[in-house]
Amino acid sequence: MSPVASSTSASDVLVIGSGAIGAAIAYYCTRRGLSVTVVDSGAVGSGTSSQCEGNLLVSDKEHGPELDLANYSLKLWQGELSEHSHLWEFENKGGIIVASQDSSMASLQRALRVQREHGIRVEEIDVAELKRYEPNVTDEAVGAAFYPDDSQVMPMLVTAHLMRMAAEAGARIWPYTEVTGFLRGGENVLGVTTTRGSFWADAVINAAGPWGGQVARLAGVNVPVEPRRGYVLVTEPMEPKVFRKVYAAEYIDNVGSSDGGLQSSPVVEGTPAGSILIGSSRERVGFDTTFNPQAVQQIAANAVKLFPFLAETRILRHYFGFRPYVPDHVPVIGPDPRAPGLWHACGHEGAGIGLSVGTGKIIAQAVAGEQTDLPLEDFTPARFDELSEASA
Ligand SMILES: Cc1cc2nc3c(=O)[nH]c(=O)nc-3n(C[C@H](O)[C@H](O)[C@H](O)COP(=O)(O)OP(=O)(O)OC[C@H]3O[C@@H](n4cnc5c(N)ncnc54)[C@H](O)[C@@H]3O)c2cc1C
Repeated sequence: MSPVASSTSASDVLVIGSGAIGAAIAYYCTRRGLSVTVVDSGAVGSGTSSQCEGNLLVSDKEHGPELDLANYSLKLWQGELSEHSHLWEFENKGGIIVASQDSSMASLQRALRVQREHGIRVEEIDVAELKRYEPNVTDEAVGAAFYPDDSQVMPMLVTAHLMRMAAEAGARIWPYTEVTGFLRGGENVLGVTTTRGSFWADAVINAAGPWGGQVARLAGVNVPVEPRRGYVLVTEPMEPKVFRKVYAAEYIDNVGSSDGGLQSSPVVEGTPAGSILIGSSRERVGFDTTFNPQAVQQIAANAVKLFPFLAETRILRHYFGFRPYVPDHVPVIGPDPRAPGLWHACGHEGAGIGLSVGTGKIIAQAVAGEQTDLPLEDFTPARFDELSEASA
């Protein structure tokens, strides 16, 4: 028989969602001695965090709060979390953006100037140097940029180990427990109702990834997180042929775009297991799970342009996930003044694995009443009401 939550059980923190974000929040909150409960409608990590890639990138970020969070998170991955690096296959492999036309090289050079001004370490490299880094890359390349700080992890291992360490420190994890509503005392959020009973908590944190908008609606607040679907192709395992994370200059434009239609640009990376992961597409089609052959075709064709040897490589499988997209491309992190007691940590779109640890740490600091390492105002959920008023 499935256990049912006692209606009297109470925690300091209740986290909705056990993806990378929920796991990082649980990890950092338990490290502060807070009592933590995590509920998920599915298995641990069964949402987007198991349907993605694990790039930790600074190279694709525009300057602003997201870049600040990426830099902060990178310091955590490389610093206080480095003792666990082997658990989640952390590799500081560096990223390379390849330009195959003079016009895209000129745009890349413009982007580099701005990135350097914002403290991103990047080096322009010529074709000879590019070939030294990536001997198998296209002969069409006219130039490239190398980002030594871009890194990679295995997302499921990150999620599973952060959650395990939180559980070992006392967090209670409730998989297959769907949040169906909120317990209220006037405007205040006091807990959640679920398919396994009620859970009370001082702080309820919406870490429901692409479902974050739906969960917010249950509490009567607008947080416009929507799914943005992306496909990834997985090759047969092989001897290493791609050594860094390599992508084409157009990828940056796609990441920053709000276009709902299908967009695709090549992103190619090797993995410790030998398979090459080939991404990626972006399209806003709700939670549609119907196979889109056009997306997969475009990804494959683009990847072959970047690495011609891939034309002779077998694809073992493909998968897709739903990125938690928000219209202004800034994650939603912090307390919701419209429903006191409710916090959000969602909307990390295509960067939630990389940004998970920074998000988890600043949420834990704020919930524990500490000064946060980054200002939460930059990520506030309240901005959406301001936006809708401004655009009305
Ligand atoms: C193709 C693709 C490639 C990507 N590549 C990268 C990359 O290279 N690097 C990177 O950093 N990011 C990448 N991302 C983005 C990254 O996967 C996400 O930003 C991240 O996984 C979001 O984590 P999350 O914990 O917020 O959401 P999720 O992992 O989706 O977790 C949310 C959880 O909430 C649960 N939930 C939902 N509703 C409820 C409810 N009512 N009650 C209880 N539980 C509920 C779900 O079951 C789910 O487990 C990629 C995404 C895709 C799709």
